[in-house]
Amino acid sequence: MIRKVISDLEEIVESDGTIEDVRDYVIETLVDFFELPKINEENYPQIVLDYSELDFEIKQFSKESHYNVEHNFIFYAPGNFDALAEESMHFINYFFNETTGQKFNYGSGIDYFYSHVLAEALGHFASKLVFGMKFDEERIKGTEAYDLYLEHLKFESNIKGLTSENFNQNCPLEKIFKQDIKEISSTLHFLGYNLGEKMFKAYEEKRFFKKELRDLIYNDFKEKGSSMDIYLSLVEFLE
Ligand SMILES: [Zn+2]
Repeated sequence: MIRKVISDLEEIVESDGTIEDVRDYVIETLVDFFELPKINEENYPQIVLDYSELDFEIKQFSKESHYNVEHNFIFYAPGNFDALAEESMHFINYFFNETTGQKFNYGSGIDYFYSHVLAEALGHFASKLVFGMKFDEERIKGTEAYDLYLEHLKFESNIKGLTSENFNQNCPLEKIFKQDIKEISSTLHFLGYNLGEKMFKAYEEKRFFKKELRDLIYNDFKEKGSSMDIYLSLVEFLE
């Protein structure tokens, strides 16, 4: 797929295409791949290079590329197209689970945390699929978020029979939640990217299928504890 993407992107650039053309191309490529219903273009997220382009005021959460689900826009930090695959995947995910336009209000920290981990796993799957991105752990070593990520992986290594009801022993979640929002966000991204790598490998090995990926895309994880339960069962299954 990657070779085709590069030649398609070259074509877009040569014909003086805009960043919106790249967005359209990436969204259509992903929708086709996952065999999802076509999305009407008027629902596509606005691409924003600077928050001052928005016709409302909102505090900027990060300088890195991100998708804002409440207002349906992609903030694109220029330089790398690959972020467009991840952020477009977030858009597709929230479009089909019908959370676009809603404020995140998942009640409990655990539900918020693992539903986001799963969204990042899909996001990473997409950037790997379209642009061949790798989750590079070398780049993140030495941070508090990385240590907590490792601690979480250790907790996961012995999860037989664990569910959102009885996960308490050895789970570093409480420690993670004591961090500030930026560190929490980093840790959940790392866990998601790591899971995305495993999902991709299992997909290539034909142990994990588009149907399962679609189930994740459509799930809004509003049922209490469901995102953690699905996360734990995926970790066990994809091992
Ligand atoms: Zn993301």
